[in-house]
Amino acid sequence: MVASANLGFPRIGANRELKRALESYWSGKIELEALQQVAKDIRTINWQLQLDAGIDHIPSNDFSMYDQVLDTAIMLNAIPDRFTDEQFDTSEELYFAMARGLQTDDIDVTPLEMTKWFDTNYHYLVPELSEKINFSLNPDKLLNEFNEAKQIGITSRPVIIGPMTFLKLSKFDKSMSNQKEYLDKLVPLYSELLGLLNKQGCEWVQIDEPILVTDLTEEEKNNFQDAYRSMTSQANVKIMLTTYFGSIIHNIDLITSMNIDGLHLDCVHGSENLEIDLSKFDNSLVLSLGIVDGRNIWINDLQRSIKLLQSFVNQSNLKDVVVSPSCSLLHSPIDLSLENKIDEEIKSWMSFATNKIDEVAVIKNVLNLNENQKSEDVKSEYWMIDTNTKAIQNRSQSPKVNNPVVQDRVKNISYDMKNRESDYTQRAKIQKDALNLPILPTTTIGSFPQTKEVRQKRSQFKQGNLSLEEYESFLLNATKDVIELQDDIGIDVLVHGEFERNDMVEYFGEQLDGFVFSENGWVQSYGSRCVKPPIIFGDVYRKNPMTIDWITKAQSFTDKHVKGMLTGPVTILQWSFVRDDQSRQTTCEQIAFAIRDEVDDLVSNNVKIIQIDEPALREGLPLKASNQVDYLAWAVDCFKIASSSVSDDIQIHTHMCYAEFNEIMDAIIKLDADVISIEASRSSMELLNAFSNNDYPNEIGPGVYDIHSPRIPPVSEIQELISTLVSQLPLERLWINPDCGLKTRGWDEVKVSLKNMVTASSEFR
Ligand code: GLN
Ligand code: ZN
Repeated sequence: MVASANLGFPRIGANRELKRALESYWSGKIELEALQQVAKDIRTINWQLQLDAGIDHIPSNDFSMYDQVLDTAIMLNAIPDRFTDEQFDTSEELYFAMARGLQTDDIDVTPLEMTKWFDTNYHYLVPELSEKINFSLNPDKLLNEFNEAKQIGITSRPVIIGPMTFLKLSKFDKSMSNQKEYLDKLVPLYSELLGLLNKQGCEWVQIDEPILVTDLTEEEKNNFQDAYRSMTSQANVKIMLTTYFGSIIHNIDLITSMNIDGLHLDCVHGSENLEIDLSKFDNSLVLSLGIVDGRNIWINDLQRSIKLLQSFVNQSNLKDVVVSPSCSLLHSPIDLSLENKIDEEIKSWMSFATNKIDEVAVIKNVLNLNENQKSEDVKSEYWMIDTNTKAIQNRSQSPKVNNPVVQDRVKNISYDMKNRESDYTQRAKIQKDALNLPILPTTTIGSFPQTKEVRQKRSQFKQGNLSLEEYESFLLNATKDVIELQDDIGIDVLVHGEFERNDMVEYFGEQLDGFVFSENGWVQSYGSRCVKPPIIFGDVYRKNPMTIDWITKAQSFTDKHVKGMLTGPVTILQWSFVRDDQSRQTTCEQIAFAIRDEVDDLVSNNVKIIQIDEPALREGLPLKASNQVDYLAWAVDCFKIASSSVSDDIQIHTHMCYAEFNEIMDAIIKLDADVISIEASRSSMELLNAFSNNDYPNEIGPGVYDIHSPRIPPVSEIQELISTLVSQLPLERLWINPDCGLKTRGWDEVKVSLKNMVTASSEFR
């Protein structure tokens, strides 16, 4: 028999109820009880939905007030010193202090760091472990939610982050660097927890160990074995070891030695998993196949999934198979029926979380059909499959998706398209004459403060309460002011301020063919923050210039160079829902051509310096080393397609932030941008080593101050940084700029900070 399961449901609520409640609670507008009620309502709705859809294994403890890794840290009492030293009135106060930091008259604590969850755009809080931590089990949340589900008639399958993944995601201080030492403390707590769950009537637990899809060291493999041997030896609940975001084939021997009851495989983002050698498994193992994409918004090809799983079930010696989404639906928007503006045809190709659990249920039902069943019993299944098949066919043939001009262009990419006329040394000479810039030139990264006023005007305009003329004249004034400001301060290369842009990806997506935007397709980014990624459904094509108006207007207010400002193809790809009917590479190449056309138009409009931002280049890096080379090769190519059409005298800049760059230094060099500006101040310039050790050959602007903080850097501090820079990198190839765009900052800080930056640079000159 085949069963159905879900690994986790989005917890923000179909209308972002949790976000609103959290923010009201934090600002003191509602009491804790009200927040808890909202949370409980969301859980109830989610469970009921899954129950109604016919899901057999429904998760609990997939809900979180903020983050599931933080929940796990609390469950294990992994609370760093600075929080235990303080007196928090309630456990919620402690929880949110760890998540967001807290500053009151008597408390001042910084939060845990935040970083990306594997290769997704979800951010988790990084646990901080040290010898001083007194690990102990704090199972209340998990047990409460298990019992809450029981009250509505569900024996749920609690979701727990496994000890190995928890440790791998944590930061250690120097007191205890050995993973094993921590593991020895954690494993007994996990065993205790499994015992408690058994007492409550729990049958299965879902233990998430996504690090099994990554490359593991021998030490980690040994630790895995030890940990699970000891956890499973006395456990009376069954363990569904859950992996996702890639294939586990490289760790199969480890997994078969772990004595688990069930194994979940991601068959979408690790399709190699379907080629697994089933004879390796004990025939009592329950195999869970994640065939419905939990990270994207397209309908499943039901016929194909059914065929695939059917042949899998037939050839296997396994008794029990489970169908499920590939990973938690945390990464998927919730309710497609709330979308009223998406083209009906395109909408028929889409599937959000509530649809995905229906897809899982249908696949299961069809797989369980037997010959004796009457067609009446399965009418709804056949109707659903029929509709699905038509939509899949229609999608593949639709002229909305296919643009032969674009497809042709991508098929005919030549060496010349990806390379500048001359190499950097040659170009640098030409640009030096053409641009006439001083040494240590100053610039900024693009955006200037997006004040409340700017956002208000935009939303008034979008709602039809402000005319186009009024809106544009407002933007024009803002642009003119910011040009005058930069001129006054004495910045060398100016920017237009990006006041017309809501978001660096959405702004371009809205003007390109092949993109649609949902009204309510929110996905949690972290805590109460959600993002609404653009949806790429078809061949990407640029019909009209996208940025020329504002740049040329800005240029008309000054004699200095104004940088053209574009978002790069990899970043647009990375921050969107992408097509699943062609490779990421092909989609990225299409975007690259759209940006290339824009670059050409900028040049014909006399723009001499063009910045193409690629802050997301690093985060697209695949989890396994073996896949990274390929990704970096096409990602670099896409940047080069976008940037290489210009003559030698045009200066191409790029910008990157939020990342460890060491690992991808080679790729950064290969981009062959004339100038790269890069976030550096928070890593106390450590990153410079990466650039100086690798003899970075082109120009570089390491950020000289942190734009994530309202703090104003004094002149002396920037000068010291410049001294360090000059000691490590060639003077003639250095630029002076902030870390990143200034859109989240206030005007007062920005003005003084930039003045200090310019003073520091010119005194140094
Ligand atoms: N040009 C963009 C800005 O300044 C870059 C943003 C980013 O790096 N995330 O806002
Ligand atoms: Zn940035």
